Amino acid sequence: MRILLVEDDTLIGSGLQQGLQHEGFAVDWAREGNAAALALRTTSYGLVLLDLGLPEQDGLSLLARLRQRHDDTPVIIITARDGVPDRVAGLDGGADDYLVKPFALDELLARMRVVHRRQTGRSRTTLEFGSLRLDPARHRVWVREEEIPLTTREFALLLELMHDPGVVVSREQLEERLYGWNEEIESNTIQVHIHKLRRKLGAKAIRNVRGVGYQMGEID
Ligand code: CA
Repeated sequence: MRILLVEDDTLIGSGLQQGLQHEGFAVDWAREGNAAALALRTTSYGLVLLDLGLPEQDGLSLLARLRQRHDDTPVIIITARDGVPDRVAGLDGGADDYLVKPFALDELLARMRVVHRRQTGRSRTTLEFGSLRLDPARHRVWVREEEIPLTTREFALLLELMHDPGVVVSREQLEERLYGWNEEIESNTIQVHIHKLRRKLGAKAIRNVRGVGYQMGEID
């Protein structure tokens, strides 16, 4: 999943970016409101982490503009403003959650999973497809009872396909969701990951829909 991190504090921003990248997320970091607004108009994100006190454009007005144009990208506000009126304004302004700084990365990750489950209408914490089971919180995958070791990238790619196993996802969409602004990507990177996933999960695990993209296939 690709995340837009909107944060003007360099220490907090770089810490969050590194922590989230380590978890397998692609993270674009915008340091002020106008850059964030531009990124939101040009890229489709799975989630926005939004600081409120920002140079140029305040986080709340950025959020208001996003919702005005019916963009329902999930937004979690991350801010030092801990007053009840601030929290109410943030949530009523269209945020999906509100987290007060300082917070632990683990709590943010758990809240991100909650927001994502709610958005996809799931109450269960694991994803299943045939005999394949995936645990987004623990980054673990099983086929029947056997655990399959995956790299962070392989896991992130499989997660993108598992969110809606019936949907075909193009190579371009996968690249956009798995790689951020400053990450080098070769033209065959996605194919290489798909190849490795098939070796681990079964040759038919991921189907190639010619000229369109990839979708979940069959698990032996
Ligand atoms: Ca700030």
